[in-house]
This record gives sequence, C-alpha cells and structure tokens, in this order.
Amino acid sequence: MKLRKQVVVIGGGFGGLAVTRALAREAVQVTLVDRRNHHLFQPLLYQVAMAGLSPAEIAVPIRSVLRKQNNARVLLAEASRIDLAARQVVLREAPPLPYHYLVVATGSCTSYFGHEDWRQVAPGLKDIEDAVEIRRRVLLAFEAAEREPDPEARLRYLTFVVIGGGPTGVELAGAIAELASYVLARDFRAINPEDTRVLLLEGGARILNTFAPQLSDRTLRSLAGMGVEVRTDAKVTRIDREGIFLGNERIMAGTVLWAAGVAASPLPDGLNAPVDRAGRVLVERDCSLPSNPEVFCIGDAAAFFTENDTAPLPGVSPVAMQQGRFVARQIRRRIDARPSETFVYHDKGSMATIGRSRAVVEIGQVHLSGFIAWLVWLLVHIYYLIDFSNRVFVIISWAWSYLTYRRGARLITGRDRTGEGT
Ligand SMILES: Cc1cc2nc3c(=O)[nH]c(=O)nc-3n(C[C@H](O)[C@H](O)[C@H](O)COP(=O)(O)OP(=O)(O)OC[C@H]3O[C@@H](n4cnc5c(N)ncnc54)[C@H](O)[C@@H]3O)c2cc1C
Repeated sequence: MKLRKQVVVIGGGFGGLAVTRALAREAVQVTLVDRRNHHLFQPLLYQVAMAGLSPAEIAVPIRSVLRKQNNARVLLAEASRIDLAARQVVLREAPPLPYHYLVVATGSCTSYFGHEDWRQVAPGLKDIEDAVEIRRRVLLAFEAAEREPDPEARLRYLTFVVIGGGPTGVELAGAIAELASYVLARDFRAINPEDTRVLLLEGGARILNTFAPQLSDRTLRSLAGMGVEVRTDAKVTRIDREGIFLGNERIMAGTVLWAAGVAASPLPDGLNAPVDRAGRVLVERDCSLPSNPEVFCIGDAAAFFTENDTAPLPGVSPVAMQQGRFVARQIRRRIDARPSETFVYHDKGSMATIGRSRAVVEIGQVHLSGFIAWLVWLLVHIYYLIDFSNRVFVIISWAWSYLTYRRGARLITGRDRTGEGT
C-alpha cells in the first residue's frame, strides 16, 4: 500500500482549521497540533470581556470540529521546535512528528511595543483568559466604586481608558459605556452612571484608520453620543496602577485596557525564516518559506505582500481562511507534481460594532453605518459561527441581552493577575 503523505498543521485557529478541512478528501494524513484544545472565535471575544457572552459560547473543542474527518487527528501539544533538515516538528509533550508538508498557522499575540511592564496593568484581548481578566477588572471596578465613600476615589474607579482606536478598541469602549449606562446603573445604588468616564485613546490622526474617513467620522459621532471621549494623536507614555500619562498629562483611571498592538506569536525555534518587524514570516507568493517550499506559513503568523502593496495583507480571519484553503490546494498540486499557484486575496470588507445596535461596514465602495450595518455585522457573525454546535445558544444569549439589557455572563471569576489582590 502506498504510504500517505504526512501533513502537520501547527495551530487550530482560522487558518489551521481551514487547511485541515480542505484536505478532508485528499489521500494524506493530517495531524493538527495546538497547545489549546479549543478553536476560538476571536471576533466575539469582546462580548465575553463585556459580560455579554460566556467563554464556552465562542469556543469549541478542535477535536469535536474534526470528529468526522477520518484523515485528521488532533494533538494537544506545543510545537517547540522545527527541525527543517530532518523534517520533523518537536513537541514539548510528545515524540517528534515527521512531516512531508508543514503548515505553520500559529497566529498572533498582543504586543506592547517593548513596554512589557504595561502587560500587567493594561491587559490586551487575545484569548479567553484575557477576556475573563478584562471582565473581572471591569466588574470589580464597579464593585469598588459602589463601596467607595470618597467621591474622588470613586471617580477614579469609574474611569476606563481604552488604548488603541482600531476595531477592538472601538468595540470595547462602546461596550463599556453601554454596560455602565444601561446595565449596571440598574443594579448599583451608589453609582451614578453619569460619573462613568470612558476614554478611547488613539495615537494616530483618526480612529478606525483602515476604514474610509467618513466611517471614522460616523464612528466618532456614535461614540460621542454614547458618552465615550475619543482623543486622537494621543500617545500614551506611561501606564501604572493609578492610570496613564499622555506626556505630562496625568489621567487617573481604575481600569486601563490595551488594544493598540499585535505581533506574530513566538514561532517555534528552528524555523529559520525571514520575518518583518512584527515577527511575521515573509512568505513567498504561494505562502511557502523561501528556503523550504514544503513548509507554509499562513494567517496572522505570515506577512504576505501582493505585487503592488507596500503593507502585508491584514491580520483578519478571511485572510487566514483563504490562505488555509489555498495551501491545501498547493499541497495537492505538489503531490501531483504540478507547479504552485499565486495566492490571491478576495477582500470581503471590514466591519466594527459600536455598542449594541450600531456598526460600520465597508465592502468595496459600499459604506454602511448605524443599525443596518449592525444587522449586516450580526448576520456575518452568525454565518461564521455556523461551525459552532452551540450557535443557537449564542444567538439566544445575544437576543436576551439585547432585549433585556441583562448580562447573563456577569460573573467575577479568575485570579488577580496584577499581584495586588482585590
Ligand atoms: C479581539 C479580536 C477581535 C478580532 N475581530 C476580528 C473580526 O471582527 N474580523 C476578522 O476578520 N478578524 C478579527 N480578528 C482577527 C482574527 O481573529 C485573526 O486574524 C485570526 O484568528 C487569524 O487566524 P490564525 O489561524 O492565523 O491564528 P489564530 O486564529 O490566532 O490561531 C492560532 C492558533 O495557534 C495556536 N498556537 C500558537 N502557537 C502554537 C505552538 N507553538 N504550538 C501549538 N499551537 C500553537 C494557538 O493556540 C491558536 O489556537 C480579531 C482578533 C482579535 C484578537
């Protein structure tokens, strides 16, 4: 019997799952390795952080996603090293995995641009632990304000600073403002929702700078209507437990959240590939490594430049999924001894939500904002949750919190990560 080609995929995110599933009918054996047992729907993480959804509603075990795919197996393990010469992946928890083709889809992580000390005081939003930590801090800030007799200290607890005016920063700022004005105001006695201050700080000239300027303006107006103070050209120079500094200006804040930067996740040792400033692998037009055509890198871990572009493709899920499907096709072509193709990205547009019923959507020349855009956002997210067996519950949870302003997931859990205790 002819030995099947071994394909190893590192990462069970959008890219890794797409390539694995696209190989379902091929005569290959796929091993998907992930250090987490779940695939995470990151676009809805902010809903967990803002107590709108529970973690289990936006994550699904990778093993269950692939349960019907007979040529795929899942290993819960961390890929620590890649031995390119021996063509094997070294795992921390298991014997090395030999491969004929390797796909690195390790995603990205939060970057503090060299200010590692800010990580403790200003959590980013990248995984479930981050989301639960943000939820804990935001809810604890309201609890602390409720029992604080000193008005000045209470105002500090009720000041929330979100750093970074991209989609995640806009989503977080809008959601905190709504959490304060609609939800918590009903449950607390000493807190006046008017006292809550939400600041969104953007270092550049405008928020949502990858969207058309008019959509940035509309977002600005929507946020202002919700009571969010947006400051552009605002470069944070220091963050500590009391708040932040913008140069000489001190802003006291009980909660500071970081939505300003991402970099590629640390790559397994030995990959020996050229990377850009954000640590992403500079890949060829077929998403392979320049020196090792049998190794591919896709999604947030890769920097893919199209012919005329000076910036790589954005770190969004459609890029990862399309590259995943593309690489599955290239593997098939390699096995058939056919030449590689060039990856072409089909841009499906961008969207960001602003609170519970507004959004901005940009699809080519079509620019939508307000409630219609939010409906489009909702439909797209429901569609992409289609792989989640629990999507019905997600929709019910959403509908419930939308109609009642209640927050079903408003639990304070997890440990204090600041080391201060609460
Ligand atoms: C808060 C937030 C909101 C977002 N919103 C949107 C949105 O609205 N629309 C959109 O299109 N995109 C959005 N994105 C971006 C999108 O989620 C990413 O572009 C996408 O997840 C990239 O897919 P990926 O497969 O490259 O990486 P990921 O989906 O991050 O998957 C990487 C996987 O690799 C695993 N891994 C990493 N290193 C190792 C290792 N050494 N060994 C084993 N396993 C490893 C990780 O555990 C993880 O499961 C958002 C991202 C965040 C953080």
